[in-house]
Amino acid sequence: MRLSPNSDSRRLAILQRLDPHHAWADCDEKRHCTLCERTFSGREVRIRWFSAKRALLRCPTPECAAGPEFWVHPGNPLLSEEAWADWDRLIERAELAASA
Ligand SMILES: [Zn+2]
Repeated sequence: MRLSPNSDSRRLAILQRLDPHHAWADCDEKRHCTLCERTFSGREVRIRWFSAKRALLRCPTPECAAGPEFWVHPGNPLLSEEAWADWDRLIERAELAASA
C-alpha cells in the first residue's frame, strides 16, 4: 500500500511523539530491533492504538513485542556514535534490571 505524503507526516509525528529515545527525521529512517534482530524503517513500525490519544510503537515482527527502548540505530557501534549511544543505553538498562 502506498501512503500519501499526508499520512507519512502523520506517521512521522507519531514516531517522534512515542519514541522518547530517538529523534526520527523521516519515515525512511532505519532501526534495528535487538530482540528479534530485524532492521526496519519507520514505515514498518507497528502502531498499537489503545484509544484516540494513547498508542505504543512496536517492532514490525509479528511475534516480537519490543518497543523503541529495544531499538538501536543500525550500524557498528564502534563506528557510529548514534549506534554506540543506543547500545550503551540498552546495556545500562540490562544492568539495572539485573541488579534489581
Ligand atoms: Zn523485534
